[in-house]
Formats: sequence, structure tokens, C-alpha cells
Amino acid sequence: MFPKEHSLRFAQLGGMRGDPFGMKVLRPAGPAEAVRLYSQNPEALPLAGGTDLMVAWNSGRLNSRTMLDLSRLKEWRGIEATQDGVRIGPLATHCEIESHPAILKRLPLLAEACSSVGAVQIRHRGTIGGNIANASPAGDSFPALAVYEAFVHTVSQEGRRSLPILELFAGVKKTALKPGELIERIDVRFPAEPPDRQVLRKVGSRQAQTLSKTVGAGLLWLGRGGVVLELRFAFGSVAPTVKRLKAVEAAVNGRKLTAELIERACALLAEDISPIDDIRSTRQYRMVVSRNILRAFLAGA
Ligand SMILES: Cc1cc2nc3c(=O)[nH]c(=O)nc-3n(C[C@H](O)[C@H](O)[C@H](O)COP(=O)(O)OP(=O)(O)OC[C@H]3O[C@@H](n4cnc5c(N)ncnc54)[C@H](O)[C@@H]3O)c2cc1C
Repeated sequence: MFPKEHSLRFAQLGGMRGDPFGMKVLRPAGPAEAVRLYSQNPEALPLAGGTDLMVAWNSGRLNSRTMLDLSRLKEWRGIEATQDGVRIGPLATHCEIESHPAILKRLPLLAEACSSVGAVQIRHRGTIGGNIANASPAGDSFPALAVYEAFVHTVSQEGRRSLPILELFAGVKKTALKPGELIERIDVRFPAEPPDRQVLRKVGSRQAQTLSKTVGAGLLWLGRGGVVLELRFAFGSVAPTVKRLKAVEAAVNGRKLTAELIERACALLAEDISPIDDIRSTRQYRMVVSRNILRAFLAGA
């Protein structure tokens, strides 16, 4: 921490509106203490890498809020690979995920999604738990987690829960986490068979260091004669929460992937996503680009 005079000067020079001395920080040494402190202080904000929270704090919006600093919870760091999948600690950073050998090999869409987050400085600090709990519609890890059908494990004084990733999101920046409940692990199973096709496409204003206008992840398994055994596709940034394409998947699964079927699937996309106009893009652009991503994937282009 800066000495008091230093912090004040920094605050003035940097134009921060967050009060550097008004922040109360709870610093648990382990998960059990974190859960206890959070249940005693349900108004506290869990603090992981701080790349989302500190932006809000700098704007002055979080003045006088208590922080629950998770950074000393070594049990919640790291990634454990098993035969069936990976167990990712909520404090695992995007950098750790994008370079983990088992994730690169068996869950490459997740590695690619994490490698597309912000700049390298953000990826070194930003965590997967923070990305999920922040629940931005543009969270880049979500479409990959959705097609890999990840589970989020939570803990609170009331006990533990395990939620499919899609059930964790309740709206723009809203989650199904209850007061006093923390994310303690994210489990992602390896697909039983490697997919025949897979894609991760993030489209923003620039090639890098950009927030998504749309971000899609897809897995496709094909059988004899080009029949679709299974399609899993999800888009982010085109609805309040990440969306699996239920209508598209239902139309395609079990059928031969003809040009006609691909067009029917693309027409059904409007049933699955509901993009809006906002500062980053327009409803129409997001719809057209998302449809192009889906069409190219199904056509094997
Ligand atoms: C310049 C910049 C660029 C960015 N670019 C991208 C991008 O391209 N794509 C993208 O998806 N995101 C981007 N982000 C957002 C951010 O970096 C990510 O969402 C990051 O993963 C957040 O993780 P964190 O550890 O920093 O979270 P924090 O800021 O510490 O916390 C975020 C939220 O999660 C809660 N939280 C954290 N851990 C837990 C837990 N274990 N249990 C319950 N709640 C918890 C916090 O209370 C808070 O509400 C960007 C941010 C910045 C500042």
C-alpha cells in the first residue's frame, strides 16, 4: 500500500474518484475464513484480480464498500487436470488457462477464449471466477464454457451447490449467486470424442484488446454420410446472458448437413439470440455477423 501522502497525490493525479482511505478490506487466510467473513458481511464485495472491480471503484461507485480480498486463498488458485477434465480454481487467471497443456489440447476453445481477453496485463490479473461472477453479457469465456457444459461450484455457510454454467447467469451483470455465496471451482469435462469441427470467433472493433460485439463457440460431431451427431453452439454479447442455440441445435441434430438445412438453421438464429443497439455495435450488425459465423461453421468453410 502507498504511504498516505503518496496515495492522495496518486488519486489527485490519476483523477480517481474512489476514496483511497474509505475502503475496508477483509483479508481471509483460507476458504473457510472467507466463507465465514462473507456470511458475517454479506454486503462485502469479493475481490479477485480487481480488473472489473477496480474500474468501478476508481469511478467512485464503490466508495465505503467493504472488500473481501480473496488473493491469499492459495487453495482457490491453479488448475487440476484429471482423466475426465479440469478443475479450475476461481482465482486461475486467463493467462494460466490459455497456456495450460490439458486445456490447450482437450478444451482449445476455452484456451482461445481466455487468450482473447483484454491485454496481457489484464490476463495476468483477471481471473475466471471474476469473469463469471461479473456476468457481463460480453464475458469472453462464457460461450466456450457453455459448449463444454461447464459446472460452477459454489460454497457458503449454507453449504455447497453445483450449477450448470448457463444457470449461473440471471441477467446483465446478475448471477444466481446468493448473499454470502462464493464460486469455489469451475469443472469442465473433456468431450468424450474429439469434435470433427470446432470454432471460437470473437468479433470486436479491433483484432486485439477489444470487447466483443459478438463471440461464438461451436462444437460439431458428424456421423456417416454427413449426419450431425451433435451440434453445440453458443453466442455471447448478443443477449443479456450467454445463449446456447437451442432452436438451431434442435433443427440440425440427427439430420444430414445439407445447404438447405444450413440456411434453415441460420434463419432460426433469431429465435435464440436477441442482440441490441449499444455503444459497441448495432442489433443488425450483431445479427448479420453472428449468422455469418454460424453459416461458415456449419458449411465447414
Ligand atoms: C482494460 C480491460 C479490458 C478487459 N477486456 C476484457 C475482454 O476482452 N473480455 C472479457 O471477458 N473481460 C474483459 N475485461 C473484464 C475483466 O478483466 C474480466 O472480467 C476478468 O476476468 C475479471 O476478473 P477479476 O479477477 O479481475 O475480477 P474482479 O474485478 O476481482 O471481480 C469481478 C466480480 O466478480 C466477483 N467475484 C470475484 N471472484 C469471485 C468469487 N470467487 N466468487 C464470487 N464472486 C466473485 C467480484 O465481487 C466482482 O463482482 C476487461 C477489463 C479491463 C479493465
